[in-house]
Amino acid sequence: MLTFEVLASEGLARRGRLGLRHGVVETPVFMPVGTYGSVKGVLPSSLEAMGAEIILGNTFHLWLRPGTDVIARFAGLHRFEGWTRPILTDSGGFQVWSLGANAKVSELGVAFQSPVNGDKLLLTPEVSMQIQRVLDSDIAMQFDECTAYETLGRITGEAEACRSMEMSLRWAARSRAEFARLENPNALFGIVQGGMFETLREESVAALTELDLPGYAIGGVSVGEPKAEMQRIVAHTPHRLPAGKPRYLMGVGTPEDLIDGVAAGVDMFDCVMPTRNARNGHLFTRFGDLRIRNARYKTDEQPIDPTCACPTCARFSRAYLHHLDRCGEMLAPMLASVHNLHFYVALMRDIRDALETGTFAAFATAFCADRSRGI
Ligand SMILES: [Zn+2]
Repeated sequence: MLTFEVLASEGLARRGRLGLRHGVVETPVFMPVGTYGSVKGVLPSSLEAMGAEIILGNTFHLWLRPGTDVIARFAGLHRFEGWTRPILTDSGGFQVWSLGANAKVSELGVAFQSPVNGDKLLLTPEVSMQIQRVLDSDIAMQFDECTAYETLGRITGEAEACRSMEMSLRWAARSRAEFARLENPNALFGIVQGGMFETLREESVAALTELDLPGYAIGGVSVGEPKAEMQRIVAHTPHRLPAGKPRYLMGVGTPEDLIDGVAAGVDMFDCVMPTRNARNGHLFTRFGDLRIRNARYKTDEQPIDPTCACPTCARFSRAYLHHLDRCGEMLAPMLASVHNLHFYVALMRDIRDALETGTFAAFATAFCADRSRGI
C-alpha cells in the first residue's frame, strides 16, 4: 500500500508525493525519530503543528519494551502512541549491530542478550517482520546487517563488506517472503549496503531492484566514517535506484547534509541530531549553530533565530533558554527540541517550494552561505 509520484525535478533532485495507509507525505521529507514510541520531549500535537507528516519508531526497542503483546492490544503503534499520521519503523538491525561484541551474527540472524532484562534473544528477518506487522507501521524496513566502517580500529575491507552485503541481500529476500506471508498491508523497503565500496553498492542496488520492493533505503552511512567518505557514497548511490520509487537516506544528518542528499536524489531523511543536539543546548539557526550554554547569551533578548516561525522563537529569548538550561529545567530541552525539529521540517518545506519553482540550486547556495556566515 504505497503510491509515489515525482511532481517536479531539478538535476537529480526530486519533488515528490508519497501515499501511505495513514496519509500523504510530501517529499523531500525529514522524519523526526521516536525511538521508544515518543519523539523525546515533544508532544504529537506540536509535531503536527510544525508540519511533521511521518515519524520513526524503533522495532528493537519497542520489542523489548513494552513488547508486542502490549502494542497488539492497541492494534498497532499509532493508537498506542497517539499519532495518527504515517510511521516508519526500522528493522532492529542497526540496534543489535550497535550492541557490538554482545551480539553474535550468523546466517540465521543475530543472537544477543537483552540489555533490559538479560534474556537470550534471537532477531531474524522473520522475527523483525513479525514485530513490524504488530506495530502496523506504514513503512517497514528489511532486516539487514549494517556494515561497520571500522572494528577495533581496523577499517572494514572490501571482502568483509562484500560478505556482509550479500548476507543482507539474502535477508532482504527472507524479509520480503515473511512480509508477504503475514499479509502485511503496508510497504516494505529494501536497504542498500556495501560499505564504502561503489562496486558493492552497485551490486546491492541491482539485486534489490530485482526484488521489486516499494521503496529503497541507503544504509551503512553515518556509521563513524569521515565526512568525505559519506559524501562520496551519498553522491554515488541514490540516482542508481529505480526512479519511480522513494529513496531514503538513513541516519543523515546536518542541514547541509540534507541539502546534499536532496541534490543527489534522496526523498526521505531521518536523524536524531535535531532532538539529541537540542538536549545538549546545540541549536540550529539560519545563520549557523548556536550553543545556548555559552555565557554570551545570558542577557540576549533575541529569539534563538529571528527568521524562525516556531512557538519557541515566537515567545522566548535566548537569555530565558540559557537560564532554563542553567537551572536544569525540563522545559529547556523541550523548547529547544521544538525549535530544532521545526528548523528541519521548515528547511524541507523551503526545499520543496524551491524544487517546484526550479530554484533549488540557488536556494541551496544561499542557505549554505547564510549558515556559514555565523550568528
Ligand atoms: Zn525557532
